[in-house]
Amino acid sequence: MRRRIVAGNWKMNGSKDLVQQLVGDIREQVSNLDDLVRSGLDVVIVPPALYVDSVVSLCGAELAAGVQNVSQWRSGAYTGEVSSDMARDLGCQYALVGHSERRQLFDETDSVIALKVARVIESGLAAVLCVGETLEEREAGEAKRVVADQVEKGLAMVGADQWSRVVVAYEPVWAIGTGKTATSEDAQAMHAEIRGVLERINAPSENISVLYGGSVKADNAAALFAEPDIDGGLIGGASLKAEEFVSICRAFP
Ligand code: PEP
Repeated sequence: MRRRIVAGNWKMNGSKDLVQQLVGDIREQVSNLDDLVRSGLDVVIVPPALYVDSVVSLCGAELAAGVQNVSQWRSGAYTGEVSSDMARDLGCQYALVGHSERRQLFDETDSVIALKVARVIESGLAAVLCVGETLEEREAGEAKRVVADQVEKGLAMVGADQWSRVVVAYEPVWAIGTGKTATSEDAQAMHAEIRGVLERINAPSENISVLYGGSVKADNAAALFAEPDIDGGLIGGASLKAEEFVSICRAFP
């Protein structure tokens, strides 16, 4: 059975005070979702790297932590970088790789992303490979091809025995931070397509969680999570409000 996952990407937001307040509030509210957590839901907090240590210390058994990015290198003279081993050392279980903001603002290519996925897995974390088309690509009828290409290239270095450490997040770029969400039907169609690509590359597609991201809120999560190929969400803005984030966690059928 695939794990259900709701991960909150704080992006470059937060402070020591916010960490205390928000993680405390989320943990308290998630502890009332015992049945969901027991039935295989991971609730993941993905703060800026500088706050990971504090977040992990506040997570308890109810929550997991992740990093938003890691270096493609193991260690060495790479000023400013954070390695996947460091993330594991601090207690992270997940790492996002290839978020569209990394692709667009930091020029991350599919080959760098493939290396990062490999590093994350090698460190014993789960890699959340983020993929998604731009508005221009969607309007040009290229969405499926672009996403399939990102999935194939991003996962090119995953070994046959490593698929249990792979999660894919479909995040149409035009839906991130814009308030525009893909309809649940459109999101489902792309998730089914992604599962087809996973099959093509000999991955155990039925066991790999595929998350949706892009303006997921408490009021649209239930429709998205009701779709058969949507296994949870990668949440940006709404993950900075405890009540809204936990309502999203509650939205599974
Ligand atoms: C994201 O950053 O991955 C994201 C989906 O953001 P938002 O929920 O704010 O659209």
